[in-house]
Amino acid sequence: MSEQHQSGPVVVVGAGQAAVATAETLRKLSFEGDIHLVGAEPYLPYQRPPLSKAYLLGDLEADRLSLKPQAWYAQHRIGLHLGRAVRQIDHASKALVLADGARIGYRHLVLATGAAPRRLPPSVDGNLAGVHVVRGLDDIDRLRRELSPGKALLIVGGGYIGLEMAAVARKLGLRVTVVEAGPRVLGRVACKETAEHVVRLHQDKGVDFRFRAQLAALEGEGHVRAAVLASGERLAADCVVVGIGARPNADLAAAAGIAVDDGILVDGEGRTNVAGIWAAGDCARFVLPGAALRLESVGNACDSGAVVARSILGQGKPYQPQPWFWSDQYDLKLQIAGQSLPGDEVVVRRSDREGLSHWYFRKDRLVAVDALGSPQAYMTGKRALAQGRSPDRVRIADPSVPLRDLIG
Ligand code: NAP
Repeated sequence: MSEQHQSGPVVVVGAGQAAVATAETLRKLSFEGDIHLVGAEPYLPYQRPPLSKAYLLGDLEADRLSLKPQAWYAQHRIGLHLGRAVRQIDHASKALVLADGARIGYRHLVLATGAAPRRLPPSVDGNLAGVHVVRGLDDIDRLRRELSPGKALLIVGGGYIGLEMAAVARKLGLRVTVVEAGPRVLGRVACKETAEHVVRLHQDKGVDFRFRAQLAALEGEGHVRAAVLASGERLAADCVVVGIGARPNADLAAAAGIAVDDGILVDGEGRTNVAGIWAAGDCARFVLPGAALRLESVGNACDSGAVVARSILGQGKPYQPQPWFWSDQYDLKLQIAGQSLPGDEVVVRRSDREGLSHWYFRKDRLVAVDALGSPQAYMTGKRALAQGRSPDRVRIADPSVPLRDLIG
């Protein structure tokens, strides 16, 4: 490593999974300079996936959410600046300006600012209490206080947030209705076969669905009490969860003249168009040969953070995303490897022993696998994708062919 690459400081905006992955990789690669993480939330960097699952159910305490214990940051000489929002990037003088006017100088700046939940327009929301988004610890703590048995919960959006919330709320004894704008759930991330399986599970647990439905207004005096759909139907709603997607936090970058288009644009090594400024995680859109890709997942946060760390040290290799996701709903573990698109051919594999899995083909190439309670199918599919192999479709559909024989 050259001396030039060894001199810091590296300052990371954001203190989530991508930020910690960047810092950890820098230290693993023997970077000796200063590292600072600057985050607006006052908490030690924490895992988000359990928030809408075990944490909300009360099965996991807040201190178990931390990605690393406090001592780890001191041991690795990583400065934490928590509860400190960043106001501006002054890249002419290579400094961050914080909301309180303090400045932190950098040699390399990594933007790991994440994404923010989309909200209902004020015309629909009416600024009523009891309407929640789900992203951070504070959001979940506010929501938890409202989830008591017998109440009516209205969920807007049938994505991961909406479905995981529905599962938790049913376990907690609430009445749950999901209002989805599209014709089915998980419209952007999974095939209709997966969506139908998941919806049946929720219906068996007592969740009501409205598809092709738009929320026209929320009603209540101070606190939400009911929702009116565009169809005119009125639904009881003691509490509302809005899970209608997220948008990348890229305003800070845009204000500094960094190129932004549905995320902070970076090349395959995580480099923005401004020298010395990089981006990783949910906020970054990687412009790769043939595709521009912005992924919102833990796997992407970890991998892209590591890519940026290597690039900063002059050891960059183009990012080759291997997308994977998981979602827990009731006792179902849904695991997804790869990335499907509407129109992919779906091969169904169903076995009493192994569970259910859906294998997506684009032309003759395997591009994704959804495993529904089938960790073995997930592992096999993930391995096939990593090796660029496409097992025979007839053999996939035949449960008498062992999974391990599909990729030889
Ligand atoms: P999402 O996965 O984008 O799903 C949003 C859903 O809401 C889509 O089905 C969308 O339908 C629908 N929708 C959009 N506007 C609507 C409206 N006005 N009325 C009714 N439905 C509407 O987003 P999310 O569930 O909010 O999750 C936010 C982020 O957190 C995502 O990045 C997600 O991957 C991540 N997350 C991941 C996990 C996991 O991996 N297990 C868990 C929780 C959250 P259309 O597709 O038709 O627009």
